[in-house]
Amino acid sequence: MRMTTIADRVTIVLGGGLVDVERASGGRFGHAAEDAFARWGDLRAWVDSTDLAPHAETGIASGMPSPRPRQVFAIGLNYADHAAESGVPVPAFPPTFTKFATCLTTPGSDLVLPSDQVDWEAELVAVIGVRAHRVSVKDAWDHVAGLTLGQDFSEREVQMRGAVPQFSLGKSYPGFGPIGPYLVSPDEFADPDDLAIECEINGEVVQSSRTSRLVFSVAELVSILSGVCPLLPGDVIFTGTPGGVGVSREPARFLQPGDVVVTRIEGIGEMRQRCVSPGETAA
Ligand code: ZN
Repeated sequence: MRMTTIADRVTIVLGGGLVDVERASGGRFGHAAEDAFARWGDLRAWVDSTDLAPHAETGIASGMPSPRPRQVFAIGLNYADHAAESGVPVPAFPPTFTKFATCLTTPGSDLVLPSDQVDWEAELVAVIGVRAHRVSVKDAWDHVAGLTLGQDFSEREVQMRGAVPQFSLGKSYPGFGPIGPYLVSPDEFADPDDLAIECEINGEVVQSSRTSRLVFSVAELVSILSGVCPLLPGDVIFTGTPGGVGVSREPARFLQPGDVVVTRIEGIGEMRQRCVSPGETAA
Protein backbone atom coordinates (compact mmCIF):
# COMPACT_ATOMS: atom_id res chain seq x y z
CA MET A 1 0.00 0.00 0.00
CA ARG A 2 1.15 3.50 -0.83
CA MET A 3 -0.36 6.38 1.15
CA THR A 4 0.11 10.07 1.53
CA THR A 5 -1.91 13.11 2.53
CA ILE A 6 -3.29 15.57 0.01
CA ALA A 7 -4.72 18.79 1.44
CA ASP A 8 -4.34 17.05 4.82
CA ARG A 9 -6.59 14.14 3.77
CA VAL A 10 -5.37 10.57 3.92
CA THR A 11 -5.04 9.34 0.36
CA ILE A 12 -4.15 5.93 -1.04
CA VAL A 13 -2.11 5.93 -4.23
CA LEU A 14 -3.37 3.17 -6.48
CA GLY A 15 -2.14 2.54 -10.00
CA GLY A 16 -2.45 5.83 -11.81
CA GLY A 17 -4.92 7.39 -9.42
CA LEU A 18 -5.82 8.47 -5.93
CA VAL A 19 -8.36 7.28 -3.39
CA ASP A 20 -9.59 9.65 -0.69
CA VAL A 21 -9.96 7.30 2.25
CA GLU A 22 -12.71 9.10 4.15
CA ARG A 23 -14.93 9.45 1.06
CA ALA A 24 -14.24 5.98 -0.32
CA SER A 25 -14.93 4.36 3.05
CA GLY A 26 -18.16 6.31 3.57
CA GLY A 27 -16.72 7.85 6.70
CA ARG A 28 -15.56 4.60 8.28
CA PHE A 29 -12.10 6.16 8.37
CA GLY A 30 -11.51 9.83 9.04
CA HIS A 31 -9.54 12.18 6.82
CA ALA A 32 -6.72 12.94 9.28
CA ALA A 33 -3.47 11.01 9.29
CA GLU A 34 -3.92 10.49 13.03
CA ASP A 35 -7.08 8.48 12.31
CA ALA A 36 -5.24 6.28 9.83
CA PHE A 37 -2.30 5.58 12.13
CA ALA A 38 -4.55 4.95 15.14
CA ARG A 39 -6.24 2.12 13.18
CA TRP A 40 -3.45 1.17 10.82
CA GLY A 41 -4.23 -2.56 10.78
CA ASP A 42 -7.91 -1.91 10.06
CA LEU A 43 -7.02 0.49 7.28
CA ARG A 44 -4.64 -2.01 5.67
CA ALA A 45 -7.28 -4.74 5.85
CA TRP A 46 -9.95 -2.46 4.36
CA VAL A 47 -7.69 -1.37 1.48
CA ASP A 48 -6.70 -4.99 0.76
CA SER A 49 -10.29 -6.24 0.77
CA THR A 50 -12.03 -3.41 -1.07
CA ASP A 51 -12.31 -2.84 -4.80
CA LEU A 52 -11.22 0.78 -4.78
CA ALA A 53 -11.82 3.05 -7.75
CA PRO A 54 -9.18 5.76 -8.05
CA HIS A 55 -10.88 9.08 -8.69
CA ALA A 56 -8.16 11.49 -9.65
CA GLU A 57 -4.96 11.62 -11.61
CA THR A 58 -1.67 11.60 -9.79
CA GLY A 59 0.45 14.69 -10.21
CA ILE A 60 -1.35 16.50 -7.41
CA ALA A 61 1.25 17.65 -4.91
CA SER A 62 1.57 15.25 -2.02
CA GLY A 63 1.75 16.37 1.55
CA MET A 64 3.62 14.53 4.26
CA PRO A 65 2.55 10.92 4.84
CA SER A 66 2.77 11.59 8.59
CA PRO A 67 2.23 15.33 9.01
CA ARG A 68 2.03 15.47 12.84
CA PRO A 69 4.18 12.77 14.42
CA ARG A 70 4.29 12.90 18.20
CA GLN A 71 7.95 11.89 18.18
CA VAL A 72 10.65 12.36 15.59
CA PHE A 73 13.81 10.29 15.98
CA ALA A 74 16.95 10.78 13.94
CA ILE A 75 20.08 8.67 13.89
CA GLY A 76 23.60 9.90 13.25
CA LEU A 77 26.56 8.06 11.74
CA ASN A 78 24.52 5.07 10.60
CA TYR A 79 26.55 4.27 7.47
CA ALA A 80 30.21 3.29 7.82
CA ASP A 81 31.35 5.58 4.98
CA HIS A 82 29.60 8.57 6.60
CA ALA A 83 31.19 7.79 9.99
CA ALA A 84 34.58 7.56 8.23
CA GLU A 85 34.17 10.87 6.39
CA SER A 86 33.11 12.43 9.72
CA GLY A 87 36.31 11.17 11.32
CA VAL A 88 34.63 9.06 13.98
CA PRO A 89 34.40 5.30 14.60
CA VAL A 90 31.31 3.35 13.56
CA PRO A 91 29.08 3.67 16.64
CA ALA A 92 28.31 0.73 18.91
CA PHE A 93 24.95 2.31 19.85
CA PRO A 94 22.88 4.53 17.53
CA PRO A 95 23.58 8.24 18.23
CA THR A 96 20.04 9.59 18.55
CA PHE A 97 18.66 13.12 18.36
CA THR A 98 15.36 14.70 17.34
CA LYS A 99 14.40 16.97 14.52
CA PHE A 100 11.92 19.30 16.23
CA ALA A 101 8.47 18.95 14.68
CA THR A 102 8.31 22.47 13.25
CA CYS A 103 11.07 21.58 10.75
CA LEU A 104 8.96 18.91 9.04
CA THR A 105 7.61 19.91 5.66
CA THR A 106 6.11 18.63 2.43
CA PRO A 107 8.18 16.90 -0.23
CA GLY A 108 7.89 19.75 -2.74
CA SER A 109 8.79 22.60 -0.41
CA ASP A 110 11.46 25.21 -1.05
CA LEU A 111 14.42 25.18 1.33
CA VAL A 112 15.11 28.61 2.82
CA LEU A 113 18.83 28.76 3.61
CA PRO A 114 19.40 30.46 7.00
CA SER A 115 23.16 30.61 6.40
CA ASP A 116 25.88 29.58 3.96
CA GLN A 117 26.59 26.34 5.89
CA VAL A 118 23.52 24.24 5.08
CA ASP A 119 24.26 20.65 4.10
CA TRP A 120 22.28 17.79 2.58
CA GLU A 121 21.60 14.32 4.05
CA ALA A 122 19.42 11.92 2.04
CA GLU A 123 17.75 9.46 4.41
CA LEU A 124 15.39 6.52 4.54
CA VAL A 125 12.58 7.34 6.98
CA ALA A 126 10.57 4.66 8.81
CA VAL A 127 7.04 5.45 10.02
CA ILE A 128 5.52 3.58 12.96
CA GLY A 129 2.08 2.00 12.43
CA VAL A 130 1.59 0.01 15.64
CA ARG A 131 2.74 1.12 19.10
CA ALA A 132 6.11 -0.43 19.89
CA HIS A 133 7.51 -0.80 23.39
CA ARG A 134 10.43 -3.14 24.11
CA VAL A 135 9.96 -5.07 20.87
CA SER A 136 12.50 -7.58 19.61
CA VAL A 137 14.34 -7.16 16.32
CA LYS A 138 12.38 -10.16 15.02
CA ASP A 139 9.01 -8.48 15.72
CA ALA A 140 10.05 -4.93 14.83
CA TRP A 141 8.79 -4.80 11.22
CA ASP A 142 5.27 -5.65 12.47
CA HIS A 143 5.26 -2.18 14.07
CA VAL A 144 6.35 -0.30 10.96
CA ALA A 145 3.60 1.19 8.76
CA GLY A 146 6.04 1.81 5.97
CA LEU A 147 9.03 3.60 4.60
CA THR A 148 9.34 7.03 3.11
CA LEU A 149 12.02 9.41 2.03
CA GLY A 150 13.51 12.29 3.96
CA GLN A 151 16.17 14.97 3.93
CA ASP A 152 17.95 15.71 7.19
CA PHE A 153 19.07 19.20 6.16
CA SER A 154 21.72 20.39 8.59
CA GLU A 155 23.17 23.78 9.48
CA ARG A 156 26.70 22.73 10.36
CA GLU A 157 27.77 25.80 12.34
CA VAL A 158 24.90 25.56 14.84
CA GLN A 159 25.16 21.77 14.84
CA MET A 160 28.74 21.92 16.11
CA ARG A 161 28.42 25.09 18.20
CA GLY A 162 29.54 25.00 21.84
CA ALA A 163 31.08 22.36 24.05
CA VAL A 164 28.37 19.81 23.27
CA PRO A 165 27.19 19.47 19.64
CA GLN A 166 23.66 20.78 18.99
CA PHE A 167 22.44 18.16 16.56
CA SER A 168 18.73 18.64 17.29
CA LEU A 169 18.85 22.41 16.97
CA GLY A 170 21.18 22.61 13.95
CA LYS A 171 18.91 20.23 12.04
CA SER A 172 15.59 21.90 12.90
CA TYR A 173 15.35 25.18 11.00
CA PRO A 174 11.99 25.54 9.21
CA GLY A 175 11.98 23.35 6.12
CA PHE A 176 14.88 21.18 7.25
CA GLY A 177 12.79 18.00 7.41
CA PRO A 178 10.91 17.31 4.17
CA ILE A 179 9.35 13.83 4.13
CA GLY A 180 7.38 12.06 1.44
CA PRO A 181 6.06 11.81 -1.16
CA TYR A 182 4.61 8.42 -0.20
CA LEU A 183 4.63 6.02 2.69
CA VAL A 184 5.17 2.57 1.14
CA SER A 185 4.24 -0.46 3.24
CA PRO A 186 7.03 -3.02 3.78
CA ASP A 187 5.28 -5.75 1.76
CA GLU A 188 5.57 -3.61 -1.40
CA PHE A 189 9.35 -4.11 -1.53
CA ALA A 190 11.19 -7.23 -2.69
CA ASP A 191 13.56 -6.49 0.22
CA PRO A 192 12.75 -3.46 2.41
CA ASP A 193 16.27 -3.68 3.86
CA ASP A 194 18.05 -3.15 0.54
CA LEU A 195 16.97 -0.04 -1.38
CA ALA A 196 19.07 2.27 -3.54
CA ILE A 197 19.29 5.75 -2.01
CA GLU A 198 20.58 8.78 -3.87
CA CYS A 199 20.95 12.55 -3.60
CA GLU A 200 21.58 14.85 -6.55
CA ILE A 201 22.39 18.54 -6.59
CA ASN A 202 21.74 20.30 -9.88
CA GLY A 203 21.89 16.90 -11.59
CA GLU A 204 25.20 15.86 -10.00
CA VAL A 205 25.03 12.70 -7.87
CA VAL A 206 26.52 13.57 -4.47
CA GLN A 207 25.30 10.56 -2.47
CA SER A 208 24.66 7.04 -3.76
CA SER A 209 24.34 4.00 -1.54
CA ARG A 210 22.03 1.20 -0.48
CA THR A 211 20.05 0.90 2.74
CA SER A 212 21.52 -2.59 3.23
CA ARG A 213 24.63 -0.69 4.36
CA LEU A 214 22.87 0.80 7.40
CA VAL A 215 24.94 0.07 10.53
CA PHE A 216 21.67 -0.32 12.51
CA SER A 217 18.84 -1.61 10.31
CA VAL A 218 15.27 -0.35 10.55
CA ALA A 219 14.33 -3.38 12.69
CA GLU A 220 17.31 -2.87 14.98
CA LEU A 221 16.50 0.82 15.39
CA VAL A 222 12.86 0.10 16.25
CA SER A 223 13.97 -2.50 18.79
CA ILE A 224 16.66 -0.30 20.37
CA LEU A 225 14.63 2.94 20.46
CA SER A 226 11.54 1.13 21.76
CA GLY A 227 13.65 -0.26 24.57
CA VAL A 228 13.66 3.28 25.95
CA CYS A 229 10.67 5.18 24.51
CA PRO A 230 7.39 3.63 23.43
CA LEU A 231 7.14 4.38 19.70
CA LEU A 232 3.70 5.69 18.77
CA PRO A 233 1.70 5.31 15.56
CA GLY A 234 2.75 8.04 13.14
CA ASP A 235 6.19 8.54 14.74
CA VAL A 236 9.00 8.91 12.24
CA ILE A 237 12.60 7.73 12.38
CA PHE A 238 15.22 9.35 10.14
CA THR A 239 17.64 6.44 9.82
CA GLY A 240 20.84 8.29 8.93
CA THR A 241 22.67 9.36 5.80
CA PRO A 242 25.29 7.66 3.66
CA GLY A 243 28.65 9.20 2.81
CA GLY A 244 28.91 12.17 0.48
CA VAL A 245 27.72 15.09 2.59
CA GLY A 246 29.12 18.55 1.85
CA VAL A 247 30.88 19.39 5.11
CA SER A 248 33.30 16.46 4.70
CA ARG A 249 34.42 17.52 1.22
CA GLU A 250 37.72 19.18 0.49
CA PRO A 251 36.94 22.03 0.21
CA ALA A 252 33.64 21.89 2.10
CA ARG A 253 30.57 22.44 -0.07
CA PHE A 254 27.26 23.84 1.12
CA LEU A 255 23.93 24.58 -0.51
CA GLN A 256 23.56 27.85 -2.42
CA PRO A 257 20.44 29.78 -3.43
CA GLY A 258 19.22 28.33 -6.73
CA ASP A 259 20.52 24.81 -6.05
CA VAL A 260 18.00 22.04 -6.66
CA VAL A 261 18.30 19.02 -4.36
CA VAL A 262 16.72 15.80 -5.59
CA THR A 263 16.46 12.92 -3.14
CA ARG A 264 15.27 9.49 -4.22
CA ILE A 265 14.90 5.98 -2.88
CA GLU A 266 14.15 2.95 -5.00
CA GLY A 267 10.51 1.90 -4.75
CA ILE A 268 9.44 5.06 -2.92
CA GLY A 269 10.01 7.91 -5.33
CA GLU A 270 11.76 11.23 -5.22
CA MET A 271 11.40 14.72 -3.86
CA ARG A 272 12.87 17.98 -4.98
CA GLN A 273 13.83 21.01 -2.94
CA ARG A 274 14.80 24.34 -4.48
CA CYS A 275 17.15 26.34 -2.27
CA VAL A 276 16.22 29.99 -1.77
CA SER A 277 17.64 32.83 0.28
CA PRO A 278 15.61 34.27 3.18
CA GLY A 279 12.99 36.67 1.84
CA GLU A 280 12.92 35.13 -1.60
CA THR A 281 9.43 33.91 -2.47
CA ALA A 282 8.60 30.63 -4.10
CA ALA A 283 8.45 30.65 -7.89
ZN1 ZN B 1 21.09 12.70 9.32
